[in-house]
Formats: sequence, structure tokens, C-alpha cells
Amino acid sequence: MSEIVDLKRRSFLKGSAAAAAGAAVVSTSAFAFGPYEEAANEKEKKEKEIKNAKFTPNVCGMCVNMCGVIVRSVDGKVKKIDPNPLYPKSRNFMCARGNAGIAEEYDPDRITTPLIRVGKRGEGKFRKASWDEAFDYIAKKMVKILDEEKDNRSTFLFGVGATSGTVDEPVVMNLVNGIGTANFIDHFSTCFAPSFMANALTFGSWGQADFRNTKYLLNLGANRAEGIVTPDTMDMFKRTHKRGIEKIVYIDVRYTNTAAQADEFIPIKPGTDGALMLAMIHETINKGYHKTPYKADYIAKYVDGIEELEEFFTKGEGAKYTPEWAEKITEIPASTIRRLTKEFSDAAEKYKGAANCYRSRKSTWYYQDFEFRRAQAIFNAIHGCVNRPGGIILGRGLKFESYEYEDFPVYDNPKPRIDIACLKPNTYPLANPQKGSWPIIRDTILEVNTKWRKGEKLADNEYPVRAAFHYKQNPLQSVPDYEKTAKMYETMDLVVVIDIQATDTALYADVILPDTVYVERESPIKMFNTIEPYITWRSKAVEPRGYAQDVYFMCKELAKRIEKPFAAITFKYTWDADDLGAELPKDFDLAKYLTDDFEVDEEKLKADIKDEKLVKAILQHASEDDLDIGTYKITAAFEKTVEEYNEETMKELYGEEAAKIAKEWGVYWPGIENAVKSDLLDEHLKAFKKETPDKNELAETIYQKFTTLPKDYYIVPKKGKYIKLAQKTFEGKKFTNPITGKLETMHRFPLWRDSLYKAPNTEEGEVRVVVGRHAYFTQSFHPNNYLLLDLMNYNYLWINDELAKKLGLRFKDEVELTSEQGKKVIAKVYPTKRIRKDTAFIATGFGAQSPMMTLGYKNGISQAMICENTIDPIIGSASMNETLVKIRKV
Ligand code: SF4
Repeated sequence: MSEIVDLKRRSFLKGSAAAAAGAAVVSTSAFAFGPYEEAANEKEKKEKEIKNAKFTPNVCGMCVNMCGVIVRSVDGKVKKIDPNPLYPKSRNFMCARGNAGIAEEYDPDRITTPLIRVGKRGEGKFRKASWDEAFDYIAKKMVKILDEEKDNRSTFLFGVGATSGTVDEPVVMNLVNGIGTANFIDHFSTCFAPSFMANALTFGSWGQADFRNTKYLLNLGANRAEGIVTPDTMDMFKRTHKRGIEKIVYIDVRYTNTAAQADEFIPIKPGTDGALMLAMIHETINKGYHKTPYKADYIAKYVDGIEELEEFFTKGEGAKYTPEWAEKITEIPASTIRRLTKEFSDAAEKYKGAANCYRSRKSTWYYQDFEFRRAQAIFNAIHGCVNRPGGIILGRGLKFESYEYEDFPVYDNPKPRIDIACLKPNTYPLANPQKGSWPIIRDTILEVNTKWRKGEKLADNEYPVRAAFHYKQNPLQSVPDYEKTAKMYETMDLVVVIDIQATDTALYADVILPDTVYVERESPIKMFNTIEPYITWRSKAVEPRGYAQDVYFMCKELAKRIEKPFAAITFKYTWDADDLGAELPKDFDLAKYLTDDFEVDEEKLKADIKDEKLVKAILQHASEDDLDIGTYKITAAFEKTVEEYNEETMKELYGEEAAKIAKEWGVYWPGIENAVKSDLLDEHLKAFKKETPDKNELAETIYQKFTTLPKDYYIVPKKGKYIKLAQKTFEGKKFTNPITGKLETMHRFPLWRDSLYKAPNTEEGEVRVVVGRHAYFTQSFHPNNYLLLDLMNYNYLWINDELAKKLGLRFKDEVELTSEQGKKVIAKVYPTKRIRKDTAFIATGFGAQSPMMTLGYKNGISQAMICENTIDPIIGSASMNETLVKIRKV
């Protein structure tokens, strides 16, 4: 195990050669094209193979959507991945990325052995290690750090990425909660924080769109046709066979594929959606559109604060938010704003709330996101579209028990999460205290750790965060400002990355632990409280490659090594000699006396310590309520394997038969038993039978056809005025304007602020960079996927064709982008009429900087390399579309 792996010098197959190599490894019949005369043999071979194949239900891990899939494997090799016909969320559907999942499994760049760094951070030099060696290395450093930090368990930062977070997060949380750090961070603040927080504050839930029943859809920049192509995206576009949406209006800064599918496309000036929304509320209130019979009744029953809202938009500050006012800001004609408001209002009235002013999932766009999304939530509410069929659904679940262990103590010594604890006065007044913020935590750790490294005195609320653990999370690519994130890692003692590839972040790790690909592991069952609620069960289809292991193994093994020393450190720093009347020996280590059941071994203690009073004091202290050492056993959370938990929980909650079905088919919902017993499904193939008519139609309706839940189950019974339009507690809260540096004051209703809007100086060739998703590339591990690269091999920079002409640029010409803060990237351009002159667009998921990702390495533009560290000043989420750049031909 002493071989040095120089990731930066490893010579990998390049370009198409690597793709061909990957294809050869996969060796799937789907890619095999033999000579014509051999076709009959091929067919026979394939049929035989299918007959002997194993079909295992799994959950797609290629994006956060978690579609149900069936993995076909032969002799332990994945041959194909197909959709699961019984899965409500995906309805026998898989997107291009899901189909390309097979390339993750057989990626020649996969890390399959634990690696320990031997070069500098980012240099890419590692040595191979055994699992024991890797765990011992990590544990030793963790124990040293915790002791030096006097039991402040928050010195450890844990992060889980979006794709694994959806299903496997409870496993990691068992370690995180067992350790007791307050510093946990996921993708919330770089993804959906603004719309989540705005909706949750207004009507208590994140909310989902019931597209199947929507009659009028006003879509503000949610590019579903490219960002995430799933069955509910298809629902959005279905207007045939007398079903589905009557009209879609799409408003965006680009003419996207979603625009092409809409009935009406309205271009908007980037960053001004909040002004549009406020004008539409103004129009609603001033025209009395909220007083029509259905809405008046709805508001009277469920909405609190309507009188205040009326006053605000007629006599208060909101009175100025007229459509004419908004026209000047958004560049959408006032007449269009009036018409859209009327159309929406009429549809909401006629169809009793079956209209939706739709928010995107990824909504970390501009400085004014939070206020924009609040306005959007209010607009939906006053038109009676919340918790109504066809509107926004609150989500209702099934009986469920999470894998997350709940019996860990609340430790005394960990400090509060650092991003919240160190907020300066009048900054980010609504930063989420549970979720925190990636840009803020990164900036805070960098600042505090730098001070600490220099030996400067830290303030009471400050402390060094000395170790980071990332489970399938790649902040160097997903969080704006690559350099700053890299610098943060430089200040740490320990960085551990659990992943399948040596991502950019992995290059900065001390230890890389090779994870399983999703087809190689069983994950905890998970309940989805969607419109058609269900429980999902991912089973292992094939054995892990090389020495890769699942995260359950990693967490448990690490827990085993740290739990006793950690308990001993806590004991040491909570020991109070005055209270107990005795001094501990100088080098006393409780870990030596803890049994595997986490009891103090009295005999052993007595053998070493002759002072009976002290022995008594130690025993007493270790069993006191606030330090019941038995509850410090971290492996208690891992006593049940994931497999045992899944089996037992399903049996307990739903009985033997349901558990059997859930395991066999990868999904459970009330009534699925009848679907399985019907003559529609092939038990071996886990698919609809060949002769089943109208498979597509059936896939869409199978849940409704067989479920035993009542038809309106997904409408949550509500009593009283649970929708709050006015946020009285916001009144008077201050925040610092990132453009002017001045203080601004919040109001109970959302406001538009010119002072938070910065337009590019187009005369000087400046444009605003907006980032967004593409159907083939959404996650930072996609750039190395040869099947996806075959579909799209580069993320060209969209610029307006007139600007291109002015700069003398043609398709694929190279340009240099320089941001206001001097960040530079090289990009190839795609001139098009489909984008505004003041805007440039970059699709996310490209531009890996790790040479270990052979195909993705420096291919395309990395959003993290060009986007500046701009942050929503109210909630602290990233504002990824606030970077202005100049473009120069190179
Ligand atoms: S949307 Fe595509 S990538 Fe995402 S989970 Fe579904 S099939 Fe997989």
C-alpha cells in the first residue's frame, strides 16, 4: 500500500479514446453493433441474457430527483438501467442523465481505494492506503483536534451533497449527531433557500406544483424543459386530449426550451422579477381581483393580513408599485402586466385555485431573491392557489420512521454554528439558523481560521473549524468563488472527502474515501410526501468496484474509533473538581475504562486509582444526567444495518406483504399490492408486460388506478388562517446593502430596492452572467460522464448575436471573461438571438479543475471560477447571477 498516486500526472486516456475505453468496459449489448449476418445470434444471446439477468430496484443517483429505476445485471455487471413502472414520481421515465448512470459505475477515473495525501493541498499527490489505515489516520487527527479545542465538537464541519442527501443523509447524520457538531451544511443556500424560506414563512411549507391539474401557469424563469426533465415537467406541457394546462406564460431572460414550449414568452430584464411580482399584487389589490366569490371565501377562511396588504398597496409604500412603475424596471409593458394579472386572476377564480405562479427549485439568483419569492408566495395566496388542486400543494406523507437516531445527548461544549454565531451586526437578519449558508460559513471559517493560525486573539463567538468532511459534495465547483473555498481548506488540519471521483474538492483532501455508486448500495428507505406519497427502497444491484465501500461502513468504522476518546475528552472538560471534591490524575483517560457497552469498568478503575473517593466521584460524574456516558456511544446509531432497518421498519409499519413488495419493487404506496397482483407487470423483468396496452398511459395513471388513498388525500386539511401575508417580526430588521454598504430596513411586506439593483454598463461591453441548468449536466460529477459528453461536449457561453458581431465573434471563438473583482475565465461563445444584449449565460456542471476527471478537466466554463461571492443580504444565500463581466476576444 505504499504506491504513490500522482493524480495530476496520471496519464489517462483522452477524449474519444477514453469514451471508447469506457464503452468497452461497460460492454452493454445496447452499444454492440455486430455485422448484419450476426444479428440473429445477437438477438438470441440477448434474450438468453435477459432471462438470466438479475433485475434489482434502485433509485437513480444522477440528480436530486431520485427517480425509481430497475438495474439489469448479468454476472455481477450492470448491463442497463431502466425506469421503474410503479414509481409515482418518475412514472416509468428516466432522463438522459439517468440513462447515463451506467457510465458512473464503469468510469475509468473512479477512486476505488482509500487515498492519503502526500503532496500539498490541491497538488494531487496521494498514496494508496488500506481502510484501517485511512480510518486510523482520520480518527487520530480528530481526537487530537477535539482535545486541543477543549471538546468544542463544532470544530468539525460536515457537508452532504444534493444527490446523496436525498436518500443517504440519515446515515451521515447519525455520525454528525453522534459527534454533536453544530456545523452541518448542505446545498440549501446555493440552491432553493429563497423560495423555500419565502413559501415556508407564508404558508408553512415548501410547496409543490400540482401541474396535472393546473389550468393556468405563470412560470417565472423555471427552465423545467432543460433544468430537470421529469414526468411532472411533461405534465406542465400537456395540453392535448382535453387535459392539462390551458395556458403557460413563461418569463425569462433567455428564450429557453421551456419558452419554446410555452404559449407566451415574455423577456424580462435580469434581476427584476421582484418588481414584476409587486406590480401584479398591486394590480390585484387595486382592481379587487381578490374579492371575487371563490377568492373572497378562500381568503376569509385561510388568509391572515389581507386588510394590511390592501392598505400597503393602496396607501402605503406599495402604492407606488404600479404596472407603469414596473415597466420601467422590468422592461415588460404595463399593459402586459395588467393582462397577465387579469388572466391569472380569472383562471384562479374559474378553476378554484387551479393556477400557479410557479417558482423554481434553484432560486439563488439575485440580491433581491428573498423579497421576490415572498411576493410570489403572497400573489399565489391572495388568488386562492395554495393547498388547492392545480395550485401549490403542501404535501402529505405516509406513516414513517426515519433511520436517523434520536437518542444522542445535547453536548455541553460545542459552540453554536459558526456562520450564524459570527454574523456581524446588521447582516443577514434572516439567515437560516438550522441550515446556515455556504458562502457565509466559508467566509467565516476562512476569516477566523486565518486569525487563529496567526495566533491572534479570537472573540468569544469565534473558534477555529479545523476539519471538514464532505460526502458527495463538491463546494469548489458548486459554491461561487473557487479561490476562496480553496483557501479555506488551506487553513484546516483535516479534510476528508467521500466520493466516487477525485473531484476538485477531493484534490484538497487529506484523505479520499472511495464511495459506492448508487447501484452498489442499499440506502435507508425514504418517504416522499408528494402529491402521490410513497416510500422508496434502494437495493444493491452489484458489488462495489475495487475497495469502494458504502457510507454506512465508513460512518460506523469511524464512530468505533472515535467514540471512546471523544467521550473521554468530554468527561475531561466537564469535570468539576470543586463540585465533586477530588482532583483527577493528570493524565487520566476515561476511554481506558469504558466497556464496549459504554459503562465505566469499576474494577479496572479501582485497580488503577486507589483513592476511593475519587473512584466514586468519577463513577458519579459519568452517570449524571448531563453526562450520562452511556448515551455517548456513537455506534449505537449503527447497531442496525441499513438492510435490517429497512426490513424491520417496513414490516412494523405496513406488514410482511407490504415489506416484501417494497423490497421486490423498490417502492411502496397504499394499494400497490393490487397493482402488483394485476396482470400488468412482469415480475422477473420488473416492467410492464410486453403485451400490456398503452404502457405510457398506464405508467401515468397506475397510482391513481390502484391506490387506496382517498382522491383528495394530498390536500392537507386546514383550519383557520394559516397563511400569513404580513411578517410583523421582520418590521425594522436591518441589513447591509452589499452595493452601497448602507443599512436598509425590512418591512412586513416585501419591497423593491433600486439600491440593490446593479445594471451592467453595456456601453463599455459589460454583461451580466446568469447561470442555469441543462438537461444533460446538472451536478458537478457529470462532466466526466462520457455518455453525457456524447450528447453535449461543452457549455458554450451564450451571448447575444449583435454583441458577438460588435466584438467580431463567431460560434466557438474564444473569449476572456473578466469580472469586476478581476476573476478571469476563458470561454467559447455561442452567439444567439435567444438572449438579451446585456446578458450572457453559462450552463452549470462543466469546467472541472481536477485532472483526475480526465474528460471533464478544464472542459468548459466553471461557474465557481467566474461567479463572484455575491450574497442575498437578507437570508445569506448565494446570488449567483450578480456577476458582471467584460468580454474580450482572445
Ligand atoms: S431526473 Fe434523470 S437524473 Fe434525475 S433522478 Fe430522474 S432519471 Fe435520474
